[in-house]
Amino acid sequence: MLIGAMEAGGTKFVCGVGTREGEILEHVSFPTEGPEETMAKAVEFFSRHPIQGLGVGTFGPADINPESPTYGSITTTPKLKWAHYPMLPELQKHFHVPAAFDTDVNAAALGELTWGAARGLDSCMYMTVGTGIGVGAVVDGKVLHGMNHPEMGHILVRRHPNDTFAGACPYHGDCLEGLAAGPALEKRWGAKGIELADRPEVWEIQADYLAQALVSYALIFGPKRMILGGGVMKQQQLFPLIREKFKTYMNSYLQNSYLDDLDTYIVPPGLQDFAGLKGSIALAVLASKVHSL
Ligand code: ADP
Ligand code: ZN
Repeated sequence: MLIGAMEAGGTKFVCGVGTREGEILEHVSFPTEGPEETMAKAVEFFSRHPIQGLGVGTFGPADINPESPTYGSITTTPKLKWAHYPMLPELQKHFHVPAAFDTDVNAAALGELTWGAARGLDSCMYMTVGTGIGVGAVVDGKVLHGMNHPEMGHILVRRHPNDTFAGACPYHGDCLEGLAAGPALEKRWGAKGIELADRPEVWEIQADYLAQALVSYALIFGPKRMILGGGVMKQQQLFPLIREKFKTYMNSYLQNSYLDDLDTYIVPPGLQDFAGLKGSIALAVLASKVHSL
């Protein structure tokens, strides 16, 4: 049985087909353009395979509530061409198979829990630090939904005393994403993240904001593992800094065996760059179990 998976990112789309066990057999990637051009490429790819289920992990915000009349659509987005675009309905015009639709980061969290760095656990959190900051989570084996998907990238954090950067979020200025996503780094320091690798002051501030956010997430819903991916997290020196600051900010308040060894609590993705794509397969598999299709 072949499952189609689509990771719809703001920069690029990745489409793949794989097995229920999460093995990707073939995949393609192309830049995100307007919806018509981009979705036509996705439809063309899936048409070449006899898929029996489909999982979509998308950039957001998106309507992931199956009861909603606009289920499967992108909602508000600064990418104006995509605003209110009915992504899942477009695919369902062409493929009459059971489908699941969620955010790319919720998909990645489920993928990591099923086959990656959080395997064997029943909860985890996945954060991407890239063009934006997105966070997805699985709690008690289920992808975390409230009134819609979580928006944990936009939480407010306490400002680092050495940081005078105003923040880059169009909605909140200095929320977490406004202070710590890739574009914020670039604006604050006047160079791309990759060019700042040997500037410790850059990573000190960066780790401080990310650690504050992780402490909040640990306090709020207690994921049993935290997985950090995305372009900015390629700076591996961030991991020990974030762990150290997490420990300081937590100040032993939460006492739990999962927090005893932060080297195994705050980790890079086990599925590397395939967390989103494999996660989209996992979404489709989970949905097919729930609806016993
Ligand atoms: P997206 O979030 O669009 O899916 P990425 O996760 O690759 O894509 O994130 C892109 C952001 O990450 C950009 O701001 C880029 O400058 C930054 N970035 C990419 N690679 C690195 C790197 N090796 N070190 C630091 N920053 C990086
Ligand atoms: Zn914001």
